Amino acid sequence: MAAIHSTSTKPEVRMRHELWRRCFRYRKNDKRLPGSPDIVLPKYRTVVFVHGCFWHGHKGCKNYTIPKTNTDFWVQKVDRNQQRDQEVWRKLEARDWSVIIIWECELEKKRFDETIDRVEKEIIENGRLHEQRRQERRLLREQRLGERRVWKARQDALMKELKHIDL
Ligand SMILES: [Zn+2]
Repeated sequence: MAAIHSTSTKPEVRMRHELWRRCFRYRKNDKRLPGSPDIVLPKYRTVVFVHGCFWHGHKGCKNYTIPKTNTDFWVQKVDRNQQRDQEVWRKLEARDWSVIIIWECELEKKRFDETIDRVEKEIIENGRLHEQRRQERRLLREQRLGERRVWKARQDALMKELKHIDL
């Protein structure tokens, strides 16, 4: 718990630079989105959060040990953070954003490359799925439009016929 929360922690900066080097383009700390995600990749409809293992309660992680003093206070604090994280996650997904969480311990030197490889794959897959959903929505829209046209044509034909009967 030594680290005070700041907007740009060091491992996060390294992660960002590596993604940039791999040709991903992003916005930083976008305040327009719930939870102002650390990075936002619009092209892939994906946001990334880097979570401090202590503050966000990384289960089973060596960096997440509740202090022996004021235990209740810390447990409650981490619990609140986790609830807030889930709330943010729900809001983002409701807006069709995919969320990737990176734990700070995953950015430690010996795990760094493996983590970035995984994140890269996830980002690309999210982008693919997003594009697929977009296509499906477009097809559905076109289909509905087509159905409406058919219905309208039938309606017009019926009206004409009715007029004819009136005469
Ligand atoms: Zn951790």
